[in-house]
Amino acid sequence: MTELTQRQKYDLKRKLEEIKDCKGKHTELISLYVPSSKQISDVTSYLKNELSESQNIKSKTTRKNVLSAIESILSRLKMFKQPPENGVVFFVGHKSIGSDQTEMVAFVIEPPLPIQTFLYRCDSLFYVEPIEDMLTIKEIYGLLLIDRRECTVGILRGNRVELLKYMTSQVPGKHGKGGQSQRRFERLTEIAAHEWFQKCGEKVSEIFLGEENLKGILVGGPGPTKRYFIDEEYLHYEIQNKIIDMFDTGYTDEFGLRELVSAASETMSQLEIAKEKQVMKRFLREISKGDKSLALYGEDEIRKALQMGAVDTLLLSENLRRYRVTLVCPTCDYQEKRTLTEDELSEFEPPECPECETPTSMEIVDKIDIIDELSELVESTGGTVVLVSQSSEEGDSLYSAFNGVAAITRYPLEF
Ligand SMILES: [Zn+2]
Repeated sequence: MTELTQRQKYDLKRKLEEIKDCKGKHTELISLYVPSSKQISDVTSYLKNELSESQNIKSKTTRKNVLSAIESILSRLKMFKQPPENGVVFFVGHKSIGSDQTEMVAFVIEPPLPIQTFLYRCDSLFYVEPIEDMLTIKEIYGLLLIDRRECTVGILRGNRVELLKYMTSQVPGKHGKGGQSQRRFERLTEIAAHEWFQKCGEKVSEIFLGEENLKGILVGGPGPTKRYFIDEEYLHYEIQNKIIDMFDTGYTDEFGLRELVSAASETMSQLEIAKEKQVMKRFLREISKGDKSLALYGEDEIRKALQMGAVDTLLLSENLRRYRVTLVCPTCDYQEKRTLTEDELSEFEPPECPECETPTSMEIVDKIDIIDELSELVESTGGTVVLVSQSSEEGDSLYSAFNGVAAITRYPLEF
């Protein structure tokens, strides 16, 4: 599995938003998923077949649009000798742009995880769910449920729970059946329990050691047995070290796996936002330091600091929806840059060139998501970027109180 960086995830998320926004007037938007195992020549003949089938579409414009979308994919396919490692996805079609107008759009995406099945779909919306699901797959966690009767091993991939192993013991219950002396019975029970835990420890360790990229292990079960099992170190030390936390569950079978995940989910999402919270807290602490403060906010100030290479950590709100736009005068080549929100951009009329004597309107020659633009600037000077979601109070304050952009500098700056 390719681990996406925060930035790559963000970029893909934004691209998917754009793709999802496209609406066809009719079923004329094509989504094509090509797994890496598929021969390009097979895809080509599949599409050629679709091409002849589509000749039967009754509406003239829909037919024309579908045909040109398929042609467009066919010509793009020529650039591939074989599909990339994780396969490739095409979203091509004529999206509606108000009144009776349409505009051809084409997106080619190499997904972060392998595509499992070949899929061709022609609809009034692009089919993005499989890629969206890939983005929600965050990390892999081991799941272990144990008591004296049962042991269940599972794995959590994103929000998918898989059962890997279910075992039951022969350890007798706490109370004897009579006949044997109670002490002897207890001793035998403890021996049986010890053997059961040993067996579980070996099996569980073997399974988890074989799982690459395991971020941590969650342990569940009713009562104190799980803690005893962990404390007595029945698990391999490497596995032992990966235990994140223990949770009470009512069941120790497959059903208990779900129970464990829901009990742990709060802790897990907290783990995820813990990092961004931590950085935000550091920023807020810096603010209160006055003269020696390393905190900086305001886009203009931060741009100056970036030029000086003085930014250590840049904090950007994931919900920033702003663009850096480059304007150029077609007559004298005068150039300037502006930051615009999505709304401002949609109604933006480029101003006249301040350098030319005869009034000339400038033109937009480039438009880039400000998150991409600023991230590149920071990374080129050795700083780091933290994208902050709004799922914590701190993250929310970055967006609402600091306009979504803040920085921790390498040394105190004065502007
Ligand atoms: Zn000019």
